[in-house]
Amino acid sequence: MLYKILGKKDYSVFLSHLVLEHDLIGPKKVKDQIYDFVPIKDLNEIDIRYKKTTLPPAKKLLFPSTEELLSYEFKEKINLTPVNKNSEKILFAINAWDLNGVNFLDRIFTTDFIDENYMEKRKKLTIIGMDTEPDVNNFALQMGSEYAKSGFDLFLSDLGDRYFVRVATPKGNGLLEKYATVAEASEKDFADYDAFMKHYRKKFKSMADIEDFHENFEIAYGKIQLWDKLSKNCFSCGSCNLVCPTCFCFNVKDDMNINLKEGIKSREWDSCMICDYGLVSGGHNFRPTKSNRLKQRYRCKLKTFVDKFGTNSCVGCGRCIEACLAKINICEDINSIQKEVSV
Ligand code: SF4
Ligand code: SF4
Repeated sequence: MLYKILGKKDYSVFLSHLVLEHDLIGPKKVKDQIYDFVPIKDLNEIDIRYKKTTLPPAKKLLFPSTEELLSYEFKEKINLTPVNKNSEKILFAINAWDLNGVNFLDRIFTTDFIDENYMEKRKKLTIIGMDTEPDVNNFALQMGSEYAKSGFDLFLSDLGDRYFVRVATPKGNGLLEKYATVAEASEKDFADYDAFMKHYRKKFKSMADIEDFHENFEIAYGKIQLWDKLSKNCFSCGSCNLVCPTCFCFNVKDDMNINLKEGIKSREWDSCMICDYGLVSGGHNFRPTKSNRLKQRYRCKLKTFVDKFGTNSCVGCGRCIEACLAKINICEDINSIQKEVSV
């Protein structure tokens, strides 16, 4: 890792080069308080004051909600052609918790199998991270996601009159060398950065009692009444999965042309919270009740990947809390579950 200092004026010059000479995706206020990551054509469109976007920006690019995987044609043999329409892009101003979501997806799509569709896009994505203000439902601090150690090419922290830049890859360094005037970070810059992070961490107000949660989870798992209570108002709509930066389940489907000689294989996001998720041929449903499904979702988020990867598959972004019409709140539920096992 290299550590550089980028002055505020140089930052604007740097960014204008990126906008003019690259396909840059960045945060933009699209309506009232609604922000989204969109292709940026003009520097003035970028608004780094966003606190949240409905969908996680990197997931939208790397693992879109629907995606064609390959086309096929029946001739003397079956011809398969991968669908690959990716180009180099820069994702600008993604925050640390969404970046940690990317780090999780990177592991999912490269452990046990390599997902070529994901990886082709990932290799072509340059990531420039930036600290942004957490909103009221954000509990990234307790999930250890308020800071990203990796997954980015550059990461910018605003020290007021200058940016402290962490340079993680040759690609990121190349962009700085080409478009920016930077200086090596001095001892004072490091001290200011430490003070910045200390202050930044105080901005996370939502608290989740996550300590030892994964160990306590098995005790809570068998408490049927607890799960009935937590899931009582759930509509099984799946919105919580759709907005989550780490949910990765998908269905694969075939669309065969009417001539029955060619077709497209594609995938689309699936949700473990909808009734049919656990339905198998023969009519058996492994998770027939909303209580079963919520319990499984929390197990996946807060236990399974602690055992498998040593990390939660929840980064504490709070999107599912805001998306849930039934007001089911994962942060409050973590605390309720902890209380339940401690009595
Ligand atoms: S968003 Fe809320 S209501 Fe919908 S499935 Fe998730 S927990 Fe249930
Ligand atoms: S489970 Fe909820 S809070 Fe956790 S990462 Fe997913 S959307 Fe964010």
